[in-house]
Amino acid sequence: MSLTMAPEIVRTEVLIIGAGASGLRAAIELAARGKECLVIGKRQHGDAHTGWAAGGINASFGHRDPEDRWQLHAADTIREGHFICRPEAVEFLAREAPERVLELQEWGCDFALTEDGRIDQRYFGAQCFRRTCFVGDRTGRAILQTLVSRAETLQVPWRENIYITALLTDGRDGRVCGAAGLDLERRRPVVFAAGAVLLAAGGYTSIFGRTTSRRNENTADAVALACRAGAVLRDMEMVQFHPTGMVAPEEMSGRLVTEAVRGEGGRLFNADGERFMSRFAPEEMELAARDVVARAIFEEIESGRGTPSGAVLLDISHVDSDTVRERLPGMVARFAEYGIDITRQPMEVAPTAHYAMGGIRVDFADGATSLPGLFAAGEATSGLHGANRLGGNSLAETVVFGRRVGIHLAELETRLPSDGTVEALSRDHLKFLDDLSRSEGRRRPGELIQKLGRILDERCGILRDGDGLRHGVEEVAALREESADLLVSWEDLPQALDLRCMLPCAEAMLRSALERRESRGAHFRRDFPETDSRQEKNILCREGGDGVLEFSTEPVPEISEEIRSALEERRILEYGHLE
Ligand SMILES: Cc1cc2nc3c(=O)[nH]c(=O)nc-3n(C[C@H](O)[C@H](O)[C@H](O)COP(=O)(O)OP(=O)(O)OC[C@H]3O[C@@H](n4cnc5c(N)ncnc54)[C@H](O)[C@@H]3O)c2cc1C
Repeated sequence: MSLTMAPEIVRTEVLIIGAGASGLRAAIELAARGKECLVIGKRQHGDAHTGWAAGGINASFGHRDPEDRWQLHAADTIREGHFICRPEAVEFLAREAPERVLELQEWGCDFALTEDGRIDQRYFGAQCFRRTCFVGDRTGRAILQTLVSRAETLQVPWRENIYITALLTDGRDGRVCGAAGLDLERRRPVVFAAGAVLLAAGGYTSIFGRTTSRRNENTADAVALACRAGAVLRDMEMVQFHPTGMVAPEEMSGRLVTEAVRGEGGRLFNADGERFMSRFAPEEMELAARDVVARAIFEEIESGRGTPSGAVLLDISHVDSDTVRERLPGMVARFAEYGIDITRQPMEVAPTAHYAMGGIRVDFADGATSLPGLFAAGEATSGLHGANRLGGNSLAETVVFGRRVGIHLAELETRLPSDGTVEALSRDHLKFLDDLSRSEGRRRPGELIQKLGRILDERCGILRDGDGLRHGVEEVAALREESADLLVSWEDLPQALDLRCMLPCAEAMLRSALERRESRGAHFRRDFPETDSRQEKNILCREGGDGVLEFSTEPVPEISEEIRSALEERRILEYGHLE
């Protein structure tokens, strides 16, 4: 196979890399405002990772709990983010989420309703009120389908099975003016000339071995593309481990058991039959913050109180079986496939890498990155969730910030580069792709990805320490050397490209984790178990001229008076009434 043929050249005012909720929401705004754009994704159109989101989307309607309001949503987000969330981002999210959810409903998203016909809301961990709107346990799929069909109505053009492998930067003014990659279906190189580029290409949890993502998504493409082009990353050490992932069968290991199971009353037991959360969070129990529940489960398993398969038990069989079937149909069906009736039997669960709070540094008002011409939205970005994300906040993030960046891009004056310019800018990179596609070394990319997963699980998982992280940095460097000796066929070329994104991301994550010498939210260091108020900062990282990562910090801006006083109300969920 050879990729030496002339690339297809595609021109568009705004290139949107990512066809999940954030990319599509931006495209809808652009189309509604009459600006040309093109949405591209690595998979088939309509099959983005967003479709896997289960439990719900947060908006402080107060339909169940009338006292709820946006300021309390913001306060919960900042408290749960352990005070390193960017307050301006949190404010945009909490203020605008209700309008975005209503808009989704208007566009056909069939949210569950209360008896009086308003959008229903359920509990999610660490939130003071019922705030999470849902479509059973398939909220992400329903939202994605709604956005796909809304974009179709507005005739938003899209391309599927396109793997972007490099951003193109104009040497004269450093402006991002396009992208290059592969059309996986037609097996040919493709180059995009664009007036602006929006990166909405998801997160990086697949650098871990156990993850809630499918194998070839959340492979760090967004951060790797941005970082290589010179953009600044933020808080790369912050990855959320979901407390409850499946453990069996092998091919489903790590897949999410939604928090909605605990939201609906599910209880956790160790192998001795003890409801152990009473030792870790006696008030909040199973609905304590995700980092607290994940660490508790991890410690139970590590201390030998797990099941033989290295899990604890999540049991919802005490809840009326019709309610379980109605509220958790996806979970009932998924476990039934493997012979488990969750209305009668417990599920085996263990923590799994779930969400990247770290990512590209953006200005949340308009999604601008540190590079002219480059914008970002959704899980690809960082700063909204700080050190830990509230369940339900990331779907809200996709639509709130997707729309914001869409508005900005629609108004932005864009200038397209010529075909000749993008062809010249992509020439070396396409040559590199061609060489890679014909590599005849000894290592299969899939084998190295598995190795990387084991390194990250061991060195940068739920509990970390300096020695482990330093070892991790060395092991990743060694893996990078091994990756110069790849054996690549067309079939595993995408994996070779994934690996090329995952390796620098893993290094950035390990080294950011070394930089943060404290424990905060999802980042727990055994050698620095306390939170240090002097480190209430964001950690920035960028590739220096010689390709070496450079680190710095930036202070967290002041929280507005309105949110501060909401924080001072110290509202917390009355966990008692969940029983
Ligand atoms: C199992 C699971 C359940 C979840 N449940 C919830 C929930 O209940 N509530 C909630 O708020 N959040 C939830 N989340 C998180 C939430 O789903 C995600 O954060 C959100 O959907 C991310 O959307 P996105 O648009 O940023 O990216 P994605 O939906 O990940 O879309 C990324 C897009 O980029 C494309 N892409 C990637 N790389 C490239 C490339 N190199 N070239 C071209 N295209 C590329 C992909 O093909 C895809 O189209 C859950 C996450 C998981 C893993």
